[in-house]
Amino acid sequence: MIQLIRGFKDILPGEVETWQHIEKIARSLFEDFGFREIRTPIMERTELFARSIGEDTDIVEKEMYTFADRKGDLITLRPEATAAICRSYIQHKMYADDPVKKFYTIGPMFRRERPQKGRYRQFYQINVEILGVSSALADAELIFLLKTLCERLAVKDVEARINSLGCPQCRPGFKTRLQEYIASVSDQLCTDCIRRKDRNPLRVLDCKVPTCREAMTNAPSILACLCDVCDHEFTLLQSALDRLNVPFVLDKRLVRGLDYYTRATFEIQTRSLGAQSAVAGGGRYDALVQLLGGPDIPATGFAIGFDRLAEIVQINRSEQKRKPDLYIAAMGGKSQALAFGWLCELGAKGFYAEIDFQDRSLKSQMKRAGRLEAPFVLMVGENELEKGFAILRNMSTKDQEDVPLDELVESISKRIKSYDDFNK
Ligand code: ATP
Ligand code: MG
Repeated sequence: MIQLIRGFKDILPGEVETWQHIEKIARSLFEDFGFREIRTPIMERTELFARSIGEDTDIVEKEMYTFADRKGDLITLRPEATAAICRSYIQHKMYADDPVKKFYTIGPMFRRERPQKGRYRQFYQINVEILGVSSALADAELIFLLKTLCERLAVKDVEARINSLGCPQCRPGFKTRLQEYIASVSDQLCTDCIRRKDRNPLRVLDCKVPTCREAMTNAPSILACLCDVCDHEFTLLQSALDRLNVPFVLDKRLVRGLDYYTRATFEIQTRSLGAQSAVAGGGRYDALVQLLGGPDIPATGFAIGFDRLAEIVQINRSEQKRKPDLYIAAMGGKSQALAFGWLCELGAKGFYAEIDFQDRSLKSQMKRAGRLEAPFVLMVGENELEKGFAILRNMSTKDQEDVPLDELVESISKRIKSYDDFNK
């Protein structure tokens, strides 16, 4: 038997309804805030990610699915969406008329990391990006969207954590202080942290190894090192969140693994997911558009881990599987052919009919209709064909009535509709 690839998964009927539900709620929320959908390809030139995500990150160091295509060009399955959205924004000069653009995108991402619960090699993200706005109010809008989405999905136990990463003005000063601290605890750090401490000391702050976390407990906070502009923007973000009644906690260890992030950074965490507690992460990436060859345009955005969100969203079981409006028990080849025509006509009108193609006994067909919880069964066999009508049975009242074969679809549709209206 051929099995799926490790770290990949199927999203089966029964589960997929939760995904559809989340997607529907998310889309309508984003569209109410003026975001428009963008879809970029699943593959891009490797260079795009190497340049924007940074050579020094887990993603570029060891997680990318990179291939040489038949001509030897290096291409990569996208590990995240932001770089491609910026590539597209620049390529299509979307900044030309009005640099302010609000996008969302939903789709699969690929990272070759160690598979475990909440961590897959193909996973899905819901991304939201605001380009062209430098104000921290755009960051507040994004965090408000995340909170509202969680509310609409009845997800509890979530918490917004925020931090600032400063800017090229003030971050170097912080880095130096952090490096001094790291030097004082370096005997307690893992080999990855030791390797990164010189080039990317911020990464040591978010290392997940327990001994590293312990060692970094008393690390200095970047918030004490922010320049005036960054400090002002961070205060603006916090007061906006207060006014919007969005609770948040300051988290000095919250840093992003991606180099283009500046200023506000945030994460939505939950206690319901165990080890993989981050449901969404985001922040400002003012340096990225220019880094990719575009104009100097600020931007901010977030990515929700769709798989993790789907784990904690509960939907009504009855929404999971559509029940047939009608079951057609047709006996004999002639009746079946006729019934199949009705099924198609009903389906095209929006009424779901089920049929048995195996010509089984009426008894076993009735059993199947019961299992599928069809409210009506239409019975038709040689006898009925001769008489010119089929028998419609209401499965709850057990009432039966004759339905003339000509204009059958019309009268059945009416019957189903009034039943639906009554049961609303
Ligand atoms: P983590 O710290 O959990 O590795 P990250 O910092 O790598 O997350 P981002 O790149 O910010 O994650 O991606 C945003 C969100 O995508 C995460 O908060 C998480 O919910 C989800 N995510 C990231 N990697 C995976 C994965 N391999 N499988 C499932 N979801 C993922
Ligand atoms: Mg990661």
